[in-house]
Order: sequence, then structure tokens, then C-alpha cells
Amino acid sequence: MDFSLDDEQRAIRDTARAFIRKEVVPLEHELLRRERAGQPGIERSELRELQLKARKFGFWGLATPTEHGGMDLPAIMQSLIWTEIGHTLVPFRFGGEADNILFYANAAQQDEYLKPTIEGDRVSCFAITEPGAGSDAANIKLSARSDGGDWILNGEKTFITNGNDADFAIVVAVTDKDKGVRGGGTTAFLVDRAMGWRSEFIATMGPGGPASLVFDDVRVPSRNILGEIGQGFELGMKWIGKGRYLIPSHALGIGERALQMAVDYANTRVTFGKPIGENQAIQWMIADAETELEAARWLVLRAAWTVDQGQDPRHSSSMAKLYGAGMINRLVDRVMQIHGGMGYTRELPIERWYRQVRLLRIYEGTDEMQRLIISRDLLRGYTKIGGHLA
Ligand SMILES: Cc1cc2nc3c(=O)[nH]c(=O)nc-3n(C[C@H](O)[C@H](O)[C@H](O)COP(=O)(O)OP(=O)(O)OC[C@H]3O[C@@H](n4cnc5c(N)ncnc54)[C@H](O)[C@@H]3O)c2cc1C
Repeated sequence: MDFSLDDEQRAIRDTARAFIRKEVVPLEHELLRRERAGQPGIERSELRELQLKARKFGFWGLATPTEHGGMDLPAIMQSLIWTEIGHTLVPFRFGGEADNILFYANAAQQDEYLKPTIEGDRVSCFAITEPGAGSDAANIKLSARSDGGDWILNGEKTFITNGNDADFAIVVAVTDKDKGVRGGGTTAFLVDRAMGWRSEFIATMGPGGPASLVFDDVRVPSRNILGEIGQGFELGMKWIGKGRYLIPSHALGIGERALQMAVDYANTRVTFGKPIGENQAIQWMIADAETELEAARWLVLRAAWTVDQGQDPRHSSSMAKLYGAGMINRLVDRVMQIHGGMGYTRELPIERWYRQVRLLRIYEGTDEMQRLIISRDLLRGYTKIGGHLA
């Protein structure tokens, strides 16, 4: 059994690390200053500039197939890079990406939606959640009614990331109520904002915010169906599945950076005549954080490995998401505790992480939904205890 990275993995990881440290991390001070002043931390144009700079180093489209100009990296490599991205609190990601299900687009749709999204000229959002259907995504109601060669969409989506910025949405709608959501009764549509949907920003405890999307008799041509009629829910689950190992990959990076801050602080902050790190109370917080971080790392890499093996990654991804999200919340809390009052200020990134990572236990499948999946797999015999080693 080999737990090490090969030379190529290490080289790509180290290049990403160097880029993040040199080009992205230096922006953090300004980001925190702006946010303290009530301004947006970083502009979309600034992020774009960074992405174009990274492109010159070859970092473009981590998951994007090479025929679309991307790197088409294995899942393990993507995971390692997302961990590097997590080292900065700047909401940076490498450019050249598109929603995984946008690759189901036909040739005409690829020209109109996929390629401009990869190039960063268009901004997409993915919308399945509704006010009455989050965890229970199979309960969506937004309807699409056939009308001549078009479809008429009515209903509301909510909590949609990028919903306020996107110029088109990938919308999962009910096209055949009788078939039911799981029986092929839903379809995914590519819906331009110009077709008539409107968005309303939702303020949250985290930086940025999602939006609700309102569809009031929005007319969409049939040529804008993504994939096949009846494939909507299936595509939706594919979209969500992608994030289940990348979200905790990102969390690993946050954890590594935050824990290092705690170690440095514990070695230098002096109370009662000695560094606080000499107290067992602080040592135990550091030990628990490191142990959980390491455990999360192997759950995440195992999930990514499962993807690369072509195996069904749902079970291992759910465990990685569940444990990774909980781990980072506990870790950031400990790091804040170790920093005392300073941890609570907006001078340091810790309180920002504290707010940011709370979301990880909620979106793209709550903790409870991950538990549901994991336990159901065992109770119904879909998977064995011990996984591929069993
Ligand atoms: C910032 C943000 C960004 C988001 N981005 C997107 C996006 O881009 N696109 C998109 O479509 N959606 C997005 N979402 C929606 C997100 O996926 C949902 O919020 C999430 O799935 C939970 O759904 P809900 O909010 O309706 O909670 P509910 O489903 O109402 O759940 C409420 C609580 O009950 C628990 N619960 C529900 N059912 C059960 C059960 N059977 N057993 C035990 N516990 C249960 C849940 O775990 C949760 O704790 C986003 C949400 C947020 C907050």
C-alpha cells in the first residue's frame, strides 16, 4: 500500500501551491480590509485576471476535457489542487471550468453555452432547489408546459449560487407530472436571463450570497433542452455528485492553513510567563484538529480514487463530505479558541472561515442526507462494511 504522491502529482500540486502563495494569498489583506469597510471583498474582474494569469502556467479547466482546452485531470489531482485553493481565503478557483452536466450539451448548445462558459465569457448557475424542495429534491414543482415548439416555465428556485450574476441557468423542471420526478418526469433546460427570469439576492451569514430565481411564464425553445427529455433529475444528481468530494477537498486546505496559524500562535502567545502551547488544554485542541484533518484527508482521497477507478463514488463521497464538513467546523472553532479574542476579530481570517464553513454542512446535501445515503447503502446491502478492501 502506497500513501505517497507520484512525481507528476507532486509537481502539479507544487506548481498550484506556488501560484496560490505568490499571486492569490497577497490579496487577502485587501480583501479583509474591504470587507471590514462593508465592500465586496474581491471583484469578479480581479478574479478573472488571476485566472488568466494562471492559464499562462497551464492551469485552465482542471476537469475540462482536453478537446475543450482543459487539463482533464484525474479526480485525485483535482482534489489535491482544490486543497491548495483552500489555503487562501480569496474566493479563487482556476478558470476554464463549466458545470459538469453542461458537457451533455449538443453541438449548437456547446457553441452558445458550454464554450463561452469555459472561456469565462458567460456565467452559469445550476437550479434544482425550490422553497418546498431542498433535501427532498424529488419534490420539485417548477413546471415546464409544452406549447408549440416551446416550453413555458413557471415556478421558483431558491438558494442558487451565482443566481444574481448568471446570465443563464440550468434549470430542472417538471415536464411530466404523471411520470414523477424519479420516473423520468423532469427535464433540464438552458434558460437565458434574457428569456425573462429574474433573481433576488439572499443575504446569508457567509461572504457573497445565493439568489432565488423567479419564473413567470418564461418561454424556452425546445432546442434549449439539455440532454434528453426526462433526464433532468438524473443530470441534477450528477451535478451534485461532483461536489461531494471537491467540497471536502477545499475544506482540507482551509484546515491546513488554519491549523498552522494555531500552531504558530500557540508557540508565540505568552500568558502566565510561558507560550500557551505549553498548556495541555491547547495541545489537545491541536492534536484533535490534526488527527481529524488527517482522517478527513484519507476519506477525501479515497473518494477521489474511487472516481478514478471508475467505481460508483456515492458512498465514499458521502462519507468524505459528511466527515470533512464536520471536521472543518470543529477545526476552525478550535483555532478560534486558541486565538482568544484575536480569533473573533475581523483582522484575521478565522471568523470569516467560521461563518464560511458552516455552509459546508448544509449545501449540496446536508449532513443528515449524507447519513441517510451512507446508512441506506449498508441497510440495503448496496455496499459492504470495509468498502473495496472488504
Ligand atoms: C449558500 C447556499 C448555496 C446553495 N447553492 C445551491 C445551488 O447552486 N443550486 C441549488 O439547486 N441549490 C443550492 N442550495 C440549496 C441547498 O442544496 C439546500 O439548502 C440543501 O439541500 C438543504 O435543503 P433545504 O434548505 O430545503 O433544507 P430542508 O430540506 O428543508 O432540511 C431542513 C433540515 O431538515 C433535515 N432533514 C430533511 N429531511 C430529513 C430527513 N429525511 N431525515 C433527517 N433530517 C432531514 C435537513 O438535513 C436539514 O437539517 C444552496 C444553499 C445555500 C444555503
